[in-house]
Amino acid sequence: MMNKGKVYIVGAGPGDPKLITVYGRECIEKADVIIYDRLVSAQLLTYAKEGAMLLYCGKEPRKHGNIQQQIHQWLVEHALQGKTVVRLKGGDPFMFGRGGEEAEHLRAYGIPYEIVPGVTAGVAAPAYAGIPVTHRNYAGGVTFIAGHLSGERDRIRWDALSEAANTIVFYMGMANIAYICEQLQRHGKDGETPVAVIEWATTTEQRTVVGTLQTIVDIVHDKQFSSPAIIVVGDVVRLHDQLKWVEEKW
Ligand code: SAH
Repeated sequence: MMNKGKVYIVGAGPGDPKLITVYGRECIEKADVIIYDRLVSAQLLTYAKEGAMLLYCGKEPRKHGNIQQQIHQWLVEHALQGKTVVRLKGGDPFMFGRGGEEAEHLRAYGIPYEIVPGVTAGVAAPAYAGIPVTHRNYAGGVTFIAGHLSGERDRIRWDALSEAANTIVFYMGMANIAYICEQLQRHGKDGETPVAVIEWATTTEQRTVVGTLQTIVDIVHDKQFSSPAIIVVGDVVRLHDQLKWVEEKW
């Protein structure tokens, strides 16, 4: 029997290919097989060695079921053939990326793996909009939440979330932004609380809008913002005007 290969679950970063880690890039360069997601920059695949097998798993929102099984199967199949496999995922692999489930699957098959962290969109998008997610004067902490809420709306503790003065960062929240803003206000957040939405962060397509819990829904609708986007709620958003920098760079 051949030696087992190894799987590197690698964070590709939020969009700009330069935001991958040095180690993440090294893993791509030595991989025999690369299984990559939809939001991963195509530029990163050019670092693959000649002859590397590139497997795309274009997960569209809400169609996860079978594709996830396919990914699990590919991971095991190629690793058991003794190959070096890179599972390249957008942002950080353990932040809303099902990286945990993939690692569990590998563990169940006794396949060695490493987790290579990446720059997550929930931190990178605010950074590229000049919004520090924490700040001594505005927020002593930050909460990361999945905003897709499909069939599990009630799992969010809206009361606790609304009460804290901390920054709230929603991933996958665009389809539910109206509901999100409504729930936060219903549970006591001031309607004047600033909100930023950052679309295609760290790419040349990046756009940012700022409003409040009361106004942001109309603003994103007018400007036709859509996924992928990060929603940032909290007083730190006030710093955008003063600290924005991407607009001056590109
Ligand atoms: N593991 C990823 C998140 C996967 S969930 C990470 O750590 O970043 C996918 C969600 O991430 C999208 O719905 C969006 O909310 C966010 N996202 C990913 N890339 C983004 C980008 N370039 N700009 C804004 N949001 C992004």
